[in-house]
Amino acid sequence: MKKRLFAAFVCLCMIVSLLPTMAFAEAGVQDSGIVTSESGLCEHHTQHDESCGYTEGTAEIPCSHEHNESCGGLTDPEACNHSHDETCGYVPATEGTPCTFVCEVCDAQDSGNPATPSDAQPEECTCETLCTEEEINADCPVCSVEGAELDKVCVGVAPMLPVTALAAAPIGQVLYVGGVQISSTGYWTTDSDGNVTASTAGETPTDNYISYDAENNVLTLHNATIKNELEFNESIEGGTFISGSAIGVFNKSGNAELTISLVGTNTIANVGKGIFVLASSASTGSSNLTIQGDGSLNASASQTGIWVQSNGNNAALCVENAEVTASPDGAVKNGVLVQAKDGSDVSLTVNGGSLTASVNANIWFQFGSGVSGSGTPTVTVSNNAIVRANGGIANTSSTSIQYGTGNKENGGIVWNGTGGTVYGDVELQEDLEIGEGESLTLDDGASLDAGNHNVIVDGGTLDENLANSLGDSVKYAPTITTHPKNVEVKEKETATFTVEATGSDLSYQWQQSTDNGSKWTNITGETNATYTIATTTMDMSGTQYRCVVKNSIDEVTSDVALLKVKHNLVKIEYKAPTCTVNGNEEYWTCDTCDKYFSDANGDTEIAKDSWIISAINHDWNDAVYTWDDDGSTCTATRTCKNDSAHTEKATATVTGAQTKAPTCTQMGETTYTAAFEAS
Ligand SMILES: [Zn+2]
Ligand SMILES: [Zn+2]
Ligand SMILES: [Zn+2]
Ligand SMILES: [Zn+2]
Ligand SMILES: [Zn+2]
Ligand SMILES: [Zn+2]
Ligand SMILES: [Zn+2]
Ligand SMILES: [Zn+2]
Repeated sequence: MKKRLFAAFVCLCMIVSLLPTMAFAEAGVQDSGIVTSESGLCEHHTQHDESCGYTEGTAEIPCSHEHNESCGGLTDPEACNHSHDETCGYVPATEGTPCTFVCEVCDAQDSGNPATPSDAQPEECTCETLCTEEEINADCPVCSVEGAELDKVCVGVAPMLPVTALAAAPIGQVLYVGGVQISSTGYWTTDSDGNVTASTAGETPTDNYISYDAENNVLTLHNATIKNELEFNESIEGGTFISGSAIGVFNKSGNAELTISLVGTNTIANVGKGIFVLASSASTGSSNLTIQGDGSLNASASQTGIWVQSNGNNAALCVENAEVTASPDGAVKNGVLVQAKDGSDVSLTVNGGSLTASVNANIWFQFGSGVSGSGTPTVTVSNNAIVRANGGIANTSSTSIQYGTGNKENGGIVWNGTGGTVYGDVELQEDLEIGEGESLTLDDGASLDAGNHNVIVDGGTLDENLANSLGDSVKYAPTITTHPKNVEVKEKETATFTVEATGSDLSYQWQQSTDNGSKWTNITGETNATYTIATTTMDMSGTQYRCVVKNSIDEVTSDVALLKVKHNLVKIEYKAPTCTVNGNEEYWTCDTCDKYFSDANGDTEIAKDSWIISAINHDWNDAVYTWDDDGSTCTATRTCKNDSAHTEKATATVTGAQTKAPTCTQMGETTYTAAFEAS
């Protein structure tokens, strides 16, 4: 209750300060004076007392300052330099303190019904723009209540329409949306194929529609999708000029102007030009497009996303609070093209919200139809707006682009390609990412306040002064500077893997794969930059390890490192067998596990003694027999073919027998026989 009324005061004050000449007869609200709260009272605690801590809030006493010559606000209320003082009488509202009494009786009765109204948080208006009966913010818990007095409860700020947009369309102007001509107030539905169809008279579509307010020349896109373009047709006004456009505005003899108001998420695609506003006369007529509202629009087209052109005068594109993306999906890379007569001015104003020429699209300022011209191109960013042209911001004028913040309190950030510049004092409305290859710097006298948000450096660089001034608001994405390397250890030795990374608040998780990287599993508890395996075992050999390094911004995975565990091998040299002694093949034995291997890598395990090469035995030559003179003894000697040092000698006992008796003329013969034992 209290907050609700307080919200009404805030609302009133903001409107007064924005539109000081408008009279608001809301005395009833102001006179309600002291704001009280019923909260905390019950039949057991009927009055607040000293112990419950309750104090009343007070209403704001408004400022009675009237603009005068010295304050500078007579001609321009926004330029008023008045600050509240004793004479103006301004006293800010105070919130008071809540009752802290807890009633045990009521609480007991209420148990089981936790959502009692007295427990509920008082709802606050969340609107950024002022609700009207025609357009109520369904997301706001206050304004969306049926019968809510919007002019009292809504704290949204009335949209600051450019003066030109508050008028009806210029005489002679035609407007086509999705190929359908729109010339009077009404509703058009859009389907998921992007077709635009006029609604039945008197019916208001519930969603996915376009409405046109002819009185103010405002086209509202309400979660609309437009994928049809105006066909080339000589017989229709503008048909030869703005054909190919999803939203085409054309005037051949005067200004071409449109205000597009965005509600929700809107899409333009499959067309030649997303939005084309053209004042085609060479002698008269400027071209103005304003895109406002708190919704978004993504306009992609084969030629140009958003195109504002005047052949006879200035051209201006203004984005107010909306989130607008323009992308060309064809060969031409114009995301946004603002084109004026040679010698005239081109302006791009983004006051809150954002304008993005996505992917590699540019923002292009053209003067006349040639490749060079004159005239002043200006880019004005205010109210913490973000302009991003990944393909750069360029122009054909001999005058370079003038960047500034206008006379607004807050400036904005402009990304010209990969270089971002902060103009004026900017407070981030969302996180700002400095991506790969990008850098952000401050313009002279500019400042950047991250507010509750962060500047996220994810591959880019931040001006050092800027980084220092932002302090803890700068968050660096994880970057691995040194990857873990392959490790080879002996069995039972310690293996250590290390990853080195930079980034804010990093956490680590080591993973392993035993199937050559097909499947990775976290290693429980291994959450440091270094992973140590104190005692390796042979079965760990071949396991792959990697580390996932992450923080709130991103996560990166290191290269894979392989662990190789080797046996502690000692080589046993080959030994040739001899006739009598076994030899052996060369083999290796592990000092740690006492296993045997046939190879130096320890790959092939072999059984003990499998390396033995049996003795080859003597291979004797024929024996040589030597008789002594009297034939009584005979010695047999033989040597080994393998080694002549191997000899064997045997002396035989000789037995003799006369095998032939002597005759007169012939000698007899005695045959001696030496017998060797076989060996
Ligand atoms: Zn109390
Ligand atoms: Zn003043
Ligand atoms: Zn004052
Ligand atoms: Zn009670
Ligand atoms: Zn509201
Ligand atoms: Zn509201
Ligand atoms: Zn071993
Ligand atoms: Zn031998």
